[in-house]
Amino acid sequence: MAATPCDVDSAILAGHGFIEPPFALGHECVARVVETGDAVTAVAPGDLVVVPWSVNCGDCDRCRAGLTAHCTAVPYMAMYGAPIGGTWGGLFSDLVRVPYADAMLVPLPTGLDPVAMASASDNWSLAWRLVAPHLKARPGARVLVVARGSIGLYVCDIARALGACEVLYVDPAPEHRELARAFGAATAETLEAVPQGFDIAVEATGRVDQLGLAVKCLTPEGICESAGNHFRPGELPLLDMYLTGVTLRVARDNVRAHIPDALTLAASGKVAPERVVSHVIDWEDLPAALPEKHLKPVFVRADDGCSPTSAT
Ligand SMILES: [Zn+2]
Ligand SMILES: [Zn+2]
Repeated sequence: MAATPCDVDSAILAGHGFIEPPFALGHECVARVVETGDAVTAVAPGDLVVVPWSVNCGDCDRCRAGLTAHCTAVPYMAMYGAPIGGTWGGLFSDLVRVPYADAMLVPLPTGLDPVAMASASDNWSLAWRLVAPHLKARPGARVLVVARGSIGLYVCDIARALGACEVLYVDPAPEHRELARAFGAATAETLEAVPQGFDIAVEATGRVDQLGLAVKCLTPEGICESAGNHFRPGELPLLDMYLTGVTLRVARDNVRAHIPDALTLAASGKVAPERVVSHVIDWEDLPAALPEKHLKPVFVRADDGCSPTSAT
């Protein structure tokens, strides 16, 4: 019903990825179930669901431990939108096959808008994971966000909603900074190291120099989450990090484990993910519009109820 590019898709479209095109893109969407296999009991045709970006079985030791991005029942890196661990297609397709549907799919809570929540497959739920557990452990923390797109803006929204006393959002794009200010964040065009300025840092730029500056801003025993795809190598200030006692977490997101928590926050009314949606575009215009540089376009299908015959 509604699909949107992840921040990494713009890097892939710009040729910075590591997989040779062509392949099916897209790993963020809210979909309507059109048909289910015999063993499926948790969802039924007609249901609106969030489809997680990574494919996972829900039943292996890793999945049971919440490490859903590292499921051992499927090839390593099995995901939509990039044929790294097998070919599963992309979520910009008209129809998508979802294996392990009972474990994979998360029904969209009533009242949530599929357009606003198209990113719950990845970026919205990732943003929750980047900051919510750390703010729970450090109530009222100061949060630094160094970013280039939707992930960082979602983090600003979530951090303020969950009680961060201060949020600084750093991004060269003025329209992104304006949105961050609407979420209650202070903003800056470029990052300057503020020693011991922040308890939590989130880096989502894919640039190692920005990650290095972010960790230099941390208070003793502070934590930095890196959500950028670092396609290029670089150096980190390891001695500074040693002296400060920094924790750096660099991880693909086990998104299925916390999509429900991220949706609960979205339904609470304390956040406004719909503000990050920059354009709502007709599904048929997707191929032409996707390469254009937009913050967070959402491509929307007309809702015909999606019976199997009408959808095909
Ligand atoms: Zn992604
Ligand atoms: Zn598994």
